[in-house]
Amino acid sequence: MKAQQLVGMIHAVSMEIDAARDELNRLDSALGDGDHGTGVSAGFAEAVTKIAALTDPTPADIFKATGTALLNRMGGASGALYGTLFLKASAAVAGKTDLTAAEFAAAWRAGLDGVMERGKAAPGGKTMVDALLPAVDALESAIGEGQSLASALDLAADAARTGAEHTAPMLALFGRAKFAGERSVGHVDAGAESVAVMFAAMRNIYRECVTSDE
Ligand code: ADP
Ligand code: MG
Repeated sequence: MKAQQLVGMIHAVSMEIDAARDELNRLDSALGDGDHGTGVSAGFAEAVTKIAALTDPTPADIFKATGTALLNRMGGASGALYGTLFLKASAAVAGKTDLTAAEFAAAWRAGLDGVMERGKAAPGGKTMVDALLPAVDALESAIGEGQSLASALDLAADAARTGAEHTAPMLALFGRAKFAGERSVGHVDAGAESVAVMFAAMRNIYRECVTSDE
């Protein structure tokens, strides 16, 4: 993957997250304070602006600008977690110009590890981890089996979507939503949903650019 393709991915994520903003706020208002969509869309919009100001960025620069923007603009628990996701991804690809599929997967694995270390959320606790963990597992194992990045992203996006849907019956154990107690049951977690939207955007834009190369 070329740095410019990664820039395109962050753009696509920003657009899709912005389109999902009201829905993400609605989900967060069922369990939390209703600001997740506003926060994550402001964060990715800021990331796009910051990336546009970089000259010839490496993948590490792109991930870092994204993480810093999310950390600064999103606020809240998830701002720190989304920021950590991209900052750890950046550190994992330091010094590289283009990324192999395996390096791209390793960046996401490092990001996930950072999120879990910082947020301490276990799988099944109704958080973004419930979409991110299956997505990263799917990405990594598809690439490990020698599948193309396009099909690995396809599987990762499907896994994130399924993971997000599976948060609906869960009881929230972490973050603000844990105060909702039993009321949290029956709603998809907002952070898991934003992760699913993010992976779907990456899948779609990557598929488009691979098809147009052919
Ligand atoms: P806040 O809760 O500060 O208002 P947001 O509304 O932006 O932050 O994000 C809420 C989302 O953050 C939740 O839906 C959940 O997915 C995620 N989240 C909260 N706490 C944790 C945690 N400890 N680990 C992983 N994800 C978490
Ligand atoms: Mg919130």
